[in-house]
Amino acid sequence: MNQDVIKFDNHIYQIDVFMENKPGRMSCYYIDSSNPILIEVGPSNSFPYLISSLESLGINEVNRSAMTHLHLDHIGGIGHLVEKYEEHFVYIHELGLKHLPNPEKLWKAVSDIYTEKWLIENWGKIKPTPIDKIKTLNDNEFIDLGNNRKLKAYHDPGHAKHHYSFYDNVSKTLFIGDTLGLIYPHGNFVQPNLPPPDFDKEILFETLEKFEKLELNNLALAHFGIHKNPYDLIANAKESIDVWIKFIENLPETSNQEASAIMEQWVRTNYEFLGFDKETIANYTNNVHFEMQVAGIRNYLLKKKNP
Ligand SMILES: [Zn+2]
Repeated sequence: MNQDVIKFDNHIYQIDVFMENKPGRMSCYYIDSSNPILIEVGPSNSFPYLISSLESLGINEVNRSAMTHLHLDHIGGIGHLVEKYEEHFVYIHELGLKHLPNPEKLWKAVSDIYTEKWLIENWGKIKPTPIDKIKTLNDNEFIDLGNNRKLKAYHDPGHAKHHYSFYDNVSKTLFIGDTLGLIYPHGNFVQPNLPPPDFDKEILFETLEKFEKLELNNLALAHFGIHKNPYDLIANAKESIDVWIKFIENLPETSNQEASAIMEQWVRTNYEFLGFDKETIANYTNNVHFEMQVAGIRNYLLKKKNP
């Protein structure tokens, strides 16, 4: 089985879980300490990759994990995780209490966009998580990892209202889930990720501005990997989000489908103009659902018009 684990700062392991059987799509993280933790689990189909990577590090039991948010590419495998590790429990936003034991609604929300067939093939079927395995988070809560290491949980809505990011006080790494956007290999720029129903620019920018005030050495993204220029990337994300919103604002009178085709072409042309190589452009543009981005931006613009 494919394994790709990178060690940072002696204690943080970045684990590629080969989402959709492709490298460089989804990272989970394991922080080694006297009381270790896993951040993100990935979709169901990625679970075997996660386990085989942990075992390659000699880790045969993990007692807890922290999830950034309730989207299925991040939490699809939770049911498997709590089944495999008997003692395991999961930190997550309080909406997890409602949705993880009965994940039908989460499933339907994604299958309505991607189709159920696509979802089963690519992310895999999900298992319910028993309610006693779920621990809800509070904003600014500390998760003690032992050895003077702590994760501070920040409630950071904008991408999703149930999003949390986690700040490691030792390495000064912010595990930022999907709040920033996407950075695919081998780019060093942020592509926005603005899905409905929760994307809201003002709320997201408020979050990003709060993060800019933290002492940061690294940003650890779910899609994908650890990056060492946090402040540049946050500035880059804000700029791109503004440009994407303006572009969609200037495309009225088109269906979401028409607008997404126009947008995809425009994004590709921009990347070519900026001199990115073909492989990087393909990594960025082939792994995004443009229609969902259009729907997210239009939903936000509508909310702003009719609050
Ligand atoms: Zn995601």
